[in-house]
Amino acid sequence: MAGTLYLVATPIGNLQDVTHRALEVLRTVDLIACEDTRHTLKLLNHFRISNRLISYHEHNELERAEELADRLVAGASIAIVSDAGTPGICDPAFRIVQRAIEVGATVVPIPGAVAFINAVIASGISTDSIFFGGFLPSKKGDRRKRLEEIRDIPATLVLYETPHRIAKSLVDCFEVLGDRRAAVARELTKLHEETARGRLSELAERYGKESVKGEIVLVIERAALVEPKRETPTPRSISKRVKELEKEGVDGKTALKKAAKEFGLSKSEAYRFLELSK
Ligand code: SAM
Repeated sequence: MAGTLYLVATPIGNLQDVTHRALEVLRTVDLIACEDTRHTLKLLNHFRISNRLISYHEHNELERAEELADRLVAGASIAIVSDAGTPGICDPAFRIVQRAIEVGATVVPIPGAVAFINAVIASGISTDSIFFGGFLPSKKGDRRKRLEEIRDIPATLVLYETPHRIAKSLVDCFEVLGDRRAAVARELTKLHEETARGRLSELAERYGKESVKGEIVLVIERAALVEPKRETPTPRSISKRVKELEKEGVDGKTALKKAAKEFGLSKSEAYRFLELSK
């Protein structure tokens, strides 16, 4: 019988955020596949865990996925960890998960920290619907194109950022998305944890002046609904609107045309409503 692949979330800074279950899995699996063995050793040493480690990162992902799949076929239990947070979230793991499923292994997530979830819940921006976009492209043109693609998504937008790019990205976000409310969450769970909240223009100004260090998540509120809610067209509401426009000096024909457009009606429908109101 094929073995089990555990996707183990580890802390995003504060080691106290590791779960009991994560430690138990890391202690008992046959092998731990990690991004950087030195990094994972710090976690294991802190919790006095000793186990076999193998490195698994974006440059050897394909060959390692094959190797790990072979071990799973032979019945091994393997844990995947990334340097921080949840494997597979802007970190390698996807390829091995695919291969593990193909070879009939059991795939088990061991939940824990994800940076973007923690940034959103502390941002004060709506959590009803969330779009996670990972990292924006590093080139300005590509970044703006990507922002245009996601501009109208009806959800809070969440992006990962780097300290040397945050100022430029905030300017692009402001110019492409408009002056929305946003939050810059930095160094979550760590000593210098900070969440800066404000309009994109304010944050762009602040980070344009101030250089920052550490890891960053950018949270941006969804696009405002562009179309104001339309009033239901009735003979009375159409007639009222036409009269208002006429009072403003608009001629009768144009007023009818304008009112029809505002209520989402054709000109003839609006005319019929107007006649009915008499
Ligand atoms: N797998 C991780 C997760 O579950 O969130 C993400 C890994 S990705 C390579 C690294 C990025 O995650 C950083 O550049 C930053 O945008 C975000 N990140 C990770 N830890 C963070 C922290 N403590 N505070 C803020 N952002 C963090």
